[in-house]
Amino acid sequence: VISFQNVDKWYGDFQALKNINLNIERGERLVICGPSGSGKSTLIRCINGLEQYNEGQLLIGGQPLNEKHLRSIRGMVGMVFQHFNLFPHMTVLENLTLAPRRTLKLSKDEANALAMKYLDRVHIAHQADKYPAQLSGGQQQRVAIARSLCMKPEILLFDEPTSALDPEMIREVLDVMKELADEGMTMVCVTHEMGFARQVADRVVFMDEGEIVEIAPPSQLFDMPQQPRTQTFLEQIL
Ligand code: ATP
Ligand code: MG
Repeated sequence: VISFQNVDKWYGDFQALKNINLNIERGERLVICGPSGSGKSTLIRCINGLEQYNEGQLLIGGQPLNEKHLRSIRGMVGMVFQHFNLFPHMTVLENLTLAPRRTLKLSKDEANALAMKYLDRVHIAHQADKYPAQLSGGQQQRVAIARSLCMKPEILLFDEPTSALDPEMIREVLDVMKELADEGMTMVCVTHEMGFARQVADRVVFMDEGEIVEIAPPSQLFDMPQQPRTQTFLEQIL
């Protein structure tokens, strides 16, 4: 459902992605890891058009990601960020219903019902009338996940969704992500949570210096990395 074909990306004269080739299947759970600055965020931000690539081809749901298809592709692809990006002046419910009302043209009642369904799914329906600042970080991130789900994405992208959270809140966010994975959502997650990767990922991508160095199922990548750069990275973090 996602296909990178010889994709290059430059920021000015700095090459952030080098000849990326990667096919992600519908329903696949892919984890991306690698050192800081290796291009992980750049790669996933290309998938929903937040960054433009310069060379090669990127197909999402069979459509080339270009000006013509950008809107429909954005509708297929949801994204959850490290810093939740909720609107502080709106309640949880208002944060969730904004896009469905504007973009999907739902009525207020329809949007509220949809929002409550997904708030329930991330176990936070009782907080619907609070403002983001009144919630813990873990709760805010679950609201952000529910907000993405309200747009009924086919693919969900996560960019370090737990790295701004205190340790005791990481678990509740990972648990929600695991539930989504079990329900068959196509997920691409940049994360340093190797336990999550082992449990949930079908494949793990290791990136370094803008390149995909190695792709393998988690047991293979973590226990029998083939590339010296992967081995060095894993020795540092495990
Ligand atoms: P981290 O783990 O720190 O989040 P990352 O793997 O997500 O790192 P990217 O954010 O994709 O890395 O950045 C890849 C490289 O591109 C880095 O060297 C970064 O400095 C550079 N870069 C990222 N965004 C821009 C930008 N808007 N302009 C110029 N250079 C950028
Ligand atoms: Mg990043």
